[in-house]
Amino acid sequence: MGHVVAIIGRPNVGKSTLFNRLIEERKAIVDDLSGVTRDRNYGEAEWGGKTFTVIDTGGYVPDSEDVFEAAIREQVHIAMDEADVLIFMVDTIAGPTPLDKSFAHIVRRSPKKVILAANKVDNFSRIDETYAFYELGLGDIMPISAANGSGTGELLDAVVKLLPEYEEPVNELPGVPRIAVVGRPNVGKSSLVNALLGRDANIVTPIAGTTRDSVDTRYTAFNQDVILVDTAGLRKRAKVKENIEFYSTLRTIRAIETCDVALLMIDALQGLEQQDLSILTQIIKHKKGLVILVNKWDLVEKETYTARDQEKVIRDKIAPFTDVPILFVSAHERQRLLKSLEIAMKVFENKSRKVSTSKLNEVMLGAIERHHPPAVRGHLIRIKYATQIPASVPTFLFFANQPKLIPTSYQRYLENQLRKNFDFTGIPIQVYFRKK
Ligand code: GDP
Ligand code: GDP
Repeated sequence: MGHVVAIIGRPNVGKSTLFNRLIEERKAIVDDLSGVTRDRNYGEAEWGGKTFTVIDTGGYVPDSEDVFEAAIREQVHIAMDEADVLIFMVDTIAGPTPLDKSFAHIVRRSPKKVILAANKVDNFSRIDETYAFYELGLGDIMPISAANGSGTGELLDAVVKLLPEYEEPVNELPGVPRIAVVGRPNVGKSSLVNALLGRDANIVTPIAGTTRDSVDTRYTAFNQDVILVDTAGLRKRAKVKENIEFYSTLRTIRAIETCDVALLMIDALQGLEQQDLSILTQIIKHKKGLVILVNKWDLVEKETYTARDQEKVIRDKIAPFTDVPILFVSAHERQRLLKSLEIAMKVFENKSRKVSTSKLNEVMLGAIERHHPPAVRGHLIRIKYATQIPASVPTFLFFANQPKLIPTSYQRYLENQLRKNFDFTGIPIQVYFRKK
């Protein structure tokens, strides 16, 4: 299971500032997916060779004053249930407040690992002031300054020490795809799952999932043998709107990690929005198969080109990762559900597609012959051969005399040629260059 670290605490203690610091540093190093968008509430961080997802609960704060405190309390509960490690943040300048104490009271009873971070310790002279937080009964205090970064390295050391070793999720049934239906609240995920699990489905076995309380179901629907990764029950815990979103985000991250293929559901009336793009980015980053389902298609007034036009709008937004199946479905009217499953199976096959070295070279050396890499700073770049190497998604090594000089645009060309000649629809593939 991957790791989720949640930053909790009352408003204005500096959660977002810390979040941005943790995410930015990694972003500079590994965000090689050009044009992808990052969600302002969660993202990947890396420290000491471990990667984990950081969630800023401060991003899920209700506007209205009267639900405010209860909502944040609920947030703490959700974070306790769903995250692996909690960073409980307090404000050293302000000192312990009644809200800090009330959260500490909740958190103390949690079996989860909690790190108490006393923020705004911008200089050493303030360290003494952090001792006041011993009264929260959470043990050691880590003095940090999210603003200037002091103490954040020690904080990250402490975080990764508490993270369990990462284990690749095991698929006990390697031939059977694990499919997750993901998307924002209210796009129709439960309706789709219910429609799939309805009269045509035949539940084979419930399989104990990798997350504590989820039970994944293996079933045959329309003659397809699949395991549905459970994301249901999203609404069970949270009452406040912002927390439904918070909870759903956490569950989505988990579901993406454990699936082979994610069906990203969007609402036909709302189109593809920022939040959908963040989920899509997660799917690609985790190297999972992707199918986009535009649900509630029954509600759309159709003119001749509606589907085609909508599809173009979506493809433009998801560029450069455009080689993705997009289906217009209706969970209510059971439109194209069989098709969706068939396409998901197809994407699953694409994920493990192996191209023989001879076929690969025949096709790709031809493509390189038709369109040579550009000369860079007077160097002629020659690519001599290619091979597919074992990896979780199709991964190709091209051997060249000057691998470092090959421009991204040419890498893109090779990727497009691979996609054109071999079917990798719905799969993020990888292209690397090595010196030969
Ligand atoms: P959140 O509501 O908990 O997410 O808090 P924010 O990250 O939005 O920060 C609240 C305020 O505290 C902002 O004005 C920040 O500039 C300030 N702040 C955050 N971290 C620090 C810090 O380390 N030192 C100081 N002096 N101010 C900080
Ligand atoms: P979830 O939060 O993503 O699981 O969404 P739900 O399955 O609970 O659906 C949210 C709302 O959208 C409910 O009122 C559903 O009845 C409605 N809905 C779901 N699928 C469709 C559909 O295909 N067509 C229409 N018209 N409404 C739908």
